[in-house]
Amino acid sequence: QLPGASYFGHLYGDEYIVLFPNVVEECSINKICEQLIELSKQKIVIDSYEWYPSIGIGVSRFPEDADSAEDLVKTASIALGRARVNEYSVYSSTFNIETYRRHQLQKSIRTAIRRNELFLEYQPKVNAWSGTIVGAEALIRWQHPDWGRIPPNDFIPLSEESEMHILIADWVLEETCRNINQWILADLPIVPVSINVSPKRLIHGNFAETCQETLQRFGVSPSMLEIEILETDVLFDNSKIQQSLQMLSQMGIKIALDDFGKGYSSISYLQQYPIDTIKIDRQFATTLVQDKKTQSVVRSVLFMAKEFGMDVVAEGVETMGQLHFLRGLECTTIQGYLFSKPLPKADFEQAMRRRQIAATEAMTSPISTRTIDASITIQRLNGQDIHVGRTNIAVSKGTMHSVSFYSPLHLPVHEGIELVLILKQQPIPVRPLQAIELDNGQIEYECQYLDVKQSHFVFEALQSS
Ligand code: C2E
Ligand code: MG
Ligand code: MG
Repeated sequence: QLPGASYFGHLYGDEYIVLFPNVVEECSINKICEQLIELSKQKIVIDSYEWYPSIGIGVSRFPEDADSAEDLVKTASIALGRARVNEYSVYSSTFNIETYRRHQLQKSIRTAIRRNELFLEYQPKVNAWSGTIVGAEALIRWQHPDWGRIPPNDFIPLSEESEMHILIADWVLEETCRNINQWILADLPIVPVSINVSPKRLIHGNFAETCQETLQRFGVSPSMLEIEILETDVLFDNSKIQQSLQMLSQMGIKIALDDFGKGYSSISYLQQYPIDTIKIDRQFATTLVQDKKTQSVVRSVLFMAKEFGMDVVAEGVETMGQLHFLRGLECTTIQGYLFSKPLPKADFEQAMRRRQIAATEAMTSPISTRTIDASITIQRLNGQDIHVGRTNIAVSKGTMHSVSFYSPLHLPVHEGIELVLILKQQPIPVRPLQAIELDNGQIEYECQYLDVKQSHFVFEALQSS
């Protein structure tokens, strides 16, 4: 079962070493570890007794983690200490909260579907003048039991390291069709819904067939489904993707090119392939009002789309100023926070019922300007000691009972987590009580002290800052 050119040895007691001189990629390390852990499912029969071995694996790599045989064993052994039963753990000298989180997510993504942890939100697309809902985009989210809500950009790439992304893509398709079917039965004024499909899913094949089967099963017309694909360099150079797109298009499913202008845009492709809609990347909305060059790019895209008979959606519209500009350029469809954030299913149903959304600019969140630099680390998670490095944060508030800090990091927020805040070299154990996502990408965490006496220290530090 092990890849060629691997060495197996007995270290001592119940510890063994497997050496792979040629394995370098993280995804193949993960695969091997998962295969080894599968061994724990193999029954060992001795006389009338049945045993299942429990396996823990610690991984360390040459030369990143250690540059001598002795240190490799040492670091692998530290990593082994971090692994739970029938799990593996990769050593990293730069094992910080981010890498730890990534690792944890990678391990648990396999069970996300089975445990019902994935769900969809719907972001309305509206008419630029009337605010009438003309469509929606289904966006996937993952509610992780430890790490809370995970945005797609954090786990879709992880899922693409294995076949998992296929299961996820098909889950999104099925869930979307199931919801549309429910809306039809509930007599809601439905609009076409787009789903994001990665080029990798199309390369794998059978996506068009899966769409056809799923649409039929839920009694949904192909005109109610749209596919959004990212323009990437592989997109048009791959015959399998081309075929899939042609088939989808022939079935009556519209194809939208997502994040247009962000990467590899070629006008000849637009004309050659069955693209119905161009979604202008968010970055253009952001600079539209101030930047003359952006204005001419957007103007040209709209002009070209008109010539080709394509629709255009402007993504990421957040302000009235941007909207006025887009109206002036005769861009008819808008998607962005100005009209609506992605909504939970029930809220989107209400929006559909009302049919229209008014534009409202978000209030910029009041960020307190007085903060003190500090760092945090995770101490314990679900009863297990964690050894990860520190990450910088900014402490913003301190009361007698709680302390708040800003960080872009997504941390778990529940009973089972203990953090240590390090403020002026003083370690302060805390537990996060709540997290509020701010518009600027930062998250504000409010934490309770595990030792209330330490509140004075934080209080004074903030006073004197
Ligand atoms: P996308 O397809 O370009 O989706 C739009 C993203 O922009 C969404 O982020 C949305 O919440 C965000 N957005 C919309 N309006 C605004 C705005 O006015 N301001 C700002 N700042 N952001 C806005 P989200 O949901 O985090 O999704 C990120 C990306 O993840 C998506 O980009 C898409 O490429 C990918 N994704 C989402 N769902 C799926 C899925 O089911 N499958 C696959 N393969 N990828 C998905
Ligand atoms: Mg999209
Ligand atoms: Mg986009």
